[in-house]
Amino acid sequence: EVPLEIRGLSKRYAGSTDRYAVRDLSFRVEKGQVLGLLGPNGAGKTTTLRMLMGLIRPDEGEVRVFGHAIRPGAPVLSRVGAFVEGAGFLPHLSGRENLELYWRATGRPAEDAHLEEALEIAGLGGALERAVRTYSQGMRQRLAIAQAMLGLPDLMILDEPTNGLDPPQIREMREVMIRYAAAGRTVIVSSHLLSEVEQTCTHLVVMDQGRLVQAGPVAEIVGTG
Ligand code: ADP
Ligand code: ADP
Repeated sequence: EVPLEIRGLSKRYAGSTDRYAVRDLSFRVEKGQVLGLLGPNGAGKTTTLRMLMGLIRPDEGEVRVFGHAIRPGAPVLSRVGAFVEGAGFLPHLSGRENLELYWRATGRPAEDAHLEEALEIAGLGGALERAVRTYSQGMRQRLAIAQAMLGLPDLMILDEPTNGLDPPQIREMREVMIRYAAAGRTVIVSSHLLSEVEQTCTHLVVMDQGRLVQAGPVAEIVGTG
């Protein structure tokens, strides 16, 4: 089963008549890969990831996740976890309480959450028992990543998880992703900085102005400059 396969994906937002946010995009991601979606601001990364998550509907093309066609409004597969910017937490509750609340809302059994394992990968340590309002930006980001990892999904999709982090936090975030994929799971992560993805990712899809510019193993793409 291929974790992710997209074919001929296109999206034009209402109001922009001539310009495609994403244009005829196709690629696939194999099990165990850490795929970096790389491109400057406005390249279409967020639009692509939102289509993968079933949050917006493509104008054309198809997204298949573990063989299932993804459509907006359809329930998100339990095998997929997603990190998007601005995940909301209740500030007066602890990190742990926030995650427990989130998991209860999914309606899945508590033992399926693998809460401790997700937390260990995200590296929150003792901060977990403190109120989220005391968290730094980096700690909130890790909590959001831990939330995306609940249930240890086979495919994790992360939209610019290092945004707003400082260099040591960025290094830690890279380790979180590598640890996650090490167990044979698959990760897709977007970034506008090559320096952030070249050490983390096994493969890259480079986008510009909505189009795929280059795709392949990191060594090939970085090697050809
Ligand atoms: P990236 O994540 O690579 O920065 P986006 O997918 O956010 O790129 O944006 C791609 C293009 O689509 C940009 O030109 C952006 O301005 C436009 N865009 C993004 N979201 C919307 C929206 N909700 N409505 C209209 N245009 C949008
Ligand atoms: P990113 O680059 O991470 O996609 P942006 O700052 O481009 O984030 O976009 C932030 C929000 O504004 C998103 O919800 C996006 O859909 C929306 N947006 C971006 N560009 C446009 C646009 N040209 N018109 C309307 N909404 C937009």
